[in-house]
Amino acid sequence: MPDRFGIPQLEDLGDVDGKRVLVRCDFNVPLQDGEITDDLRIRSAIPTLRWLQEHGARVVACSHLGRPKGEPDPAYAMDPVRARLDELLPGVELLENVRFDPGETKNDPAFVQRLTEGVDAFVLDAFGAAHRSHASVVGPAPHLPSAGGRLLAREVEVLLGVRTDPKRPFVAILGGAKVSDKLGVIEALLGIVDTLLIGGGMCFTFLKALGHGVGGSLLEEDQVETARRLLDQHGDVIHLPSDIVAERDGEVRNVGRAVPEGWRGLDIGPGTAAEFGDVVLAAGTVLWNGPMGLFEDPRFAAGTEAVARAMAETKAFTVIGGGDSAAAVAQFGLADEMDHVSTGGGASLELIEQGDLPGLAALRSAPNATGEQT
Ligand code: ADP
Ligand code: MG
Repeated sequence: MPDRFGIPQLEDLGDVDGKRVLVRCDFNVPLQDGEITDDLRIRSAIPTLRWLQEHGARVVACSHLGRPKGEPDPAYAMDPVRARLDELLPGVELLENVRFDPGETKNDPAFVQRLTEGVDAFVLDAFGAAHRSHASVVGPAPHLPSAGGRLLAREVEVLLGVRTDPKRPFVAILGGAKVSDKLGVIEALLGIVDTLLIGGGMCFTFLKALGHGVGGSLLEEDQVETARRLLDQHGDVIHLPSDIVAERDGEVRNVGRAVPEGWRGLDIGPGTAAEFGDVVLAAGTVLWNGPMGLFEDPRFAAGTEAVARAMAETKAFTVIGGGDSAAAVAQFGLADEMDHVSTGGGASLELIEQGDLPGLAALRSAPNATGEQT
């Protein structure tokens, strides 16, 4: 039975014994000098690959890695991934980087044809790439019995679940560098959440809209008007920092809510961290995307760490929306304390914003899908 969002599951493939099953994974791991520095994405794909193997399928996996320019590039060859995958789960065939072919990002039907030659069924488990209309993501499902893998199914269940029927109060925490990147998500969330806490570099565009000085902090001048409108319409839902930790010429201090000329706001202050923490502790659901400050510098990590600790402590259902927030939570050793840490940064935000992704829509159009969301 397809899940409640209409996405066929592995069981909906029918008998896969002896069948050749193509699995689109997200093996886009970070590499340094040809070595994998974090294999989370490979480990996350194992449950799906193992299930298929245990049910007798001949498993062929494929993925992109980095951003090669539509032609073979040894720097992005899949060899390190193949070696690690072979240690974790022997017996899986892994195709070469799909982005070595210019047809991948163009969603070229001829490339889809080549990818699926001799293939009996398709599984999409690359949640981190499911927002891309690329050949290996959206191409096979309309032509083959298809399913979402276990990783993708869990991501969709959690992220669409909190979007559809969150346990309340539903609190979202947004931070990170740019407002414009996340404006769509902010607007979508404002229709759903009970409280939206804004920190990180993006808070200064909102503080400016309230008339506060922001000094040399990150500011998107052309978004101030939009921020003002959002504050007018949803002022009771949006909470902004009441104090800011700023820096000037190596000097660091709490400057209150207004950042003086010559100073750069780089973290939320301790008062704000405590207030945000209290909101998190009283929540039913918390969704967090974007660090509260320049957490890569220990002088400006306290706000992000305080929010992470409150999320670890709260009884609320806690979701981290991928990207740098996931890196921050991992850096504090708190990833295991969260209910869900998304493997997809851009994909998780787009799913929250749109309520759907191209890769999911393709799965719903597969011949074995019912095509309906229940
Ligand atoms: P995510 O990947 O979680 O969506 P973003 O990519 O939007 O987050 O932003 C993460 C970056 O924002 C981090 O590198 C962090 O250092 C930076 N950042 C957060 N707050 C500030 C700030 N006040 N000033 C400058 N950079 C900031
Ligand atoms: Mg990021």
